[in-house]
Amino acid sequence: MKKDIKIAVIGVGHLGKHHVQHLSSIENVALAGVFDIDRARAEEISNTFKIDCFNSIQDLLNSVDAVSIVTPTKSHKAVAEVCIKAGKHVFIEKPITETVEEADALIGLSKEHNTIIQVGHIERLNPALLPLSDYELNPKFVEVQRLAPYMLRGSDVPVVLDLMIHDIDLILTLIPSPVKHIESTGVSIMTNSVDIANARITFENGATANLTSSRVAKDRVRKLKIFQEDLYITVDFLIGLTEIYRAMDADQNDPDAIMTAPLESNGKHRQIFYEKPKIVKTDALKMELINFIKSIKGEETPVVDGPAGRNALKIAIEIQNKILEEFNK
Ligand code: NAD
Repeated sequence: MKKDIKIAVIGVGHLGKHHVQHLSSIENVALAGVFDIDRARAEEISNTFKIDCFNSIQDLLNSVDAVSIVTPTKSHKAVAEVCIKAGKHVFIEKPITETVEEADALIGLSKEHNTIIQVGHIERLNPALLPLSDYELNPKFVEVQRLAPYMLRGSDVPVVLDLMIHDIDLILTLIPSPVKHIESTGVSIMTNSVDIANARITFENGATANLTSSRVAKDRVRKLKIFQEDLYITVDFLIGLTEIYRAMDADQNDPDAIMTAPLESNGKHRQIFYEKPKIVKTDALKMELINFIKSIKGEETPVVDGPAGRNALKIAIEIQNKILEEFNK
């Protein structure tokens, strides 16, 4: 019988509590306990889930194979470093770190100590995105919007590192080509940093992505649109709806087509077919954590590994720096 993976959660604020909740229900996981610098919060969570409340990170390292790091971004590097140096696998919430140099240092350490780094870019496992793996994607243009009402939580980092980084990670996966050029602009409304940002990224293969993120919107919006030859896809991450419009030549009018071009070309009709792939409702955070556990057991590989988290961060910082250049003009 295979041994359970022993794990602890470091940082049990808003999201850390969900990590604890999921890890307590995943097969082959022995949830050892939690640590948080806010002792009262740590005790509250440890009492609720009947798990240990450790006194320090050092204190938990002897009891675990892996940790989930759900502390504020500015502490990710220091916390992960201690854990990796002790030979522990780490799941780090997004963004991986505050700087690319910090991310590189952690990736180097994980190679040295032969440990896994997984980064919590949760949208990769959003149920509405998963059906896209059945389609041959070659995006020419991608449009993505992520808007949210203002909340204090997360506002310690600019909106690019808080919200847009989710979409940067998705874009880098959808368009597997080096980034050629970035243009960006942004404004501050509620905080001293950037609250609304727009970026236009062009890629070596000719594709373009346009990203807009806001944390001062009235309503929540999380939409992705992919345009490519003969295919238009829309994904609504919030309501879990994926719609595919495919243009095809047809010998005769196909009754399944939702639209037929009025003109025939070379004796063929140009028709548009509509598909709505079935979405299997799953919890993306739980799926990420299962993927982490299976990766530790050698059964899978992390859906978002350290280098992927680092690459998303690098582009996010470039976008943010270009916005700041504009501010300082
Ligand atoms: P939070 O402020 O609610 O919780 C953070 C917790 O970490 C607090 O309880 C705090 O006391 C504790 N903490 C701070 N420094 C610590 C340290 N050095 N060691 C141990 N505990 C420490 O924040 P949150 O909203 O839960 O966010 C935590 C992380 O999760 C951030 O990196 C954030 O970007 C990320 N996040 C990701 C998503 C997502 O969609 N994947 C969503 C929200 C937050």
